[in-house]
Amino acid sequence: MRIVVLVKEVPDTYGDRELDLETGLVDRGAGDMVLDEISERALEVALAHADAHPGAEVTTLTMASQKAVTSVRKALAMGAASAVHVADERLRGADLGLTAEVLAATIARGPFDLVIAGNQSTDGAGGVLPTMIAERLGVASLTSLVSVELTETSVRGARRTDTGTATVSAALPAVISITEALPDARFPNFKGIMAAKKKPLEEVSLDSLGIDAERVDTPRAIMVAVAERPPRAGGVKITDEGDAGAQLATFLMKNQLA
Ligand SMILES: Cc1cc2nc3c(=O)[nH]c(=O)nc-3n(C[C@H](O)[C@H](O)[C@H](O)COP(=O)(O)OP(=O)(O)OC[C@H]3O[C@@H](n4cnc5c(N)ncnc54)[C@H](O)[C@@H]3O)c2cc1C
Repeated sequence: MRIVVLVKEVPDTYGDRELDLETGLVDRGAGDMVLDEISERALEVALAHADAHPGAEVTTLTMASQKAVTSVRKALAMGAASAVHVADERLRGADLGLTAEVLAATIARGPFDLVIAGNQSTDGAGGVLPTMIAERLGVASLTSLVSVELTETSVRGARRTDTGTATVSAALPAVISITEALPDARFPNFKGIMAAKKKPLEEVSLDSLGIDAERVDTPRAIMVAVAERPPRAGGVKITDEGDAGAQLATFLMKNQLA
């Protein structure tokens, strides 16, 4: 089985995260960049399957600037057999539509059985990319899975809704997205880090995908305005003088929290 895992590099949530107010983009030079945790979980789903099925082949796919190569190598060190990195500065500021077009065109270059993504990235948080890619590839899309069962010909999983749990399945090839309910990812070990240096890492440019670079310069979704989140206002402190319960209830009602 040929599995492609979509892995994204994001600003570390433990550090400072800045928004560039000129461009509306995350300031990627402001803090440390890491492999998104949800991407790591998506990779873990693929690697766990490959551990149990030696014929399975796991490739990661990333669209990000050249600097993201450290994260791409981390995915290789975790156990992916190969990596594809779409590194083209003309894609800086790409919206969801363009990202889906580029990633789908990259996947479509070769045969694949399953694409695994996170349900939502930590930074952009669009949450729609996996389905947009499935649409472009013309294959089924199973989203926000909390469990994944794979056979040679199908994928099946559960997704939680407000009212219960739905079990969904699709014939392969398919695109799935997974949630944080799936297990934590493994850490790369020394052997994996050494092995990663020799694994295939293909760098792809827009031109090789046949995507017209001039069209890339014409944004489809436009950021109209961007503003920093205002600093948090000080909280309300209630001192209990026998009426704290009533004060608390009034506060909750007033703020529509009850
Ligand atoms: C030079 C360059 C600069 C970029 N700068 C930014 C930036 O400042 N901010 C930003 O958010 N994005 C940036 N990107 C990436 C791209 O624009 C976004 O990934 C895209 O818009 C997806 O948005 P999202 O994360 O909200 O998607 P979501 O729909 O929330 O993502 C869901 C899942 O899709 C997969 N996925 C998402 N994006 C990628 C990706 N790029 N590669 C592989 N898998 C992916 C992951 O599995 C993710 O968990 C940059 C890309 C390039 C080439």
